[in-house]
Amino acid sequence: MNKTALKEVKEKLLAERALLIEKLKGNDLSVDDSETPDPVDLAVRNYSKNVMLAVSENESRQLALIDEAIIRVDDKEYGQCLNCEKDINAKRLAAIPWARYCLDCQSLLEQGLLDDE
Ligand SMILES: [Zn+2]
Repeated sequence: MNKTALKEVKEKLLAERALLIEKLKGNDLSVDDSETPDPVDLAVRNYSKNVMLAVSENESRQLALIDEAIIRVDDKEYGQCLNCEKDINAKRLAAIPWARYCLDCQSLLEQGLLDDE
């Protein structure tokens, strides 16, 4: 992948990351709404609670994957499968810019035939 493409990917990842963080903040508030806490309680909790503690597992996992992908862009390793080191299909990367594995390895992983790290 050339420098321009890597730069575009990184921008896309950073934008995705920012969106995700916004979404996580939104989730945090919606949980509080459903509990109808009193305003003082709400203010204290919003102040003291680390946003990361409130995020759902999926979203925090995705955030970690995005962070990892950004590191791989910086290391010029982006776009390679973490298992077989082949280039990940460009269409797959366009759909899932934080993909770690090629389709073959992803399907092995989903069948439990590949150690995830
Ligand atoms: Zn692979």
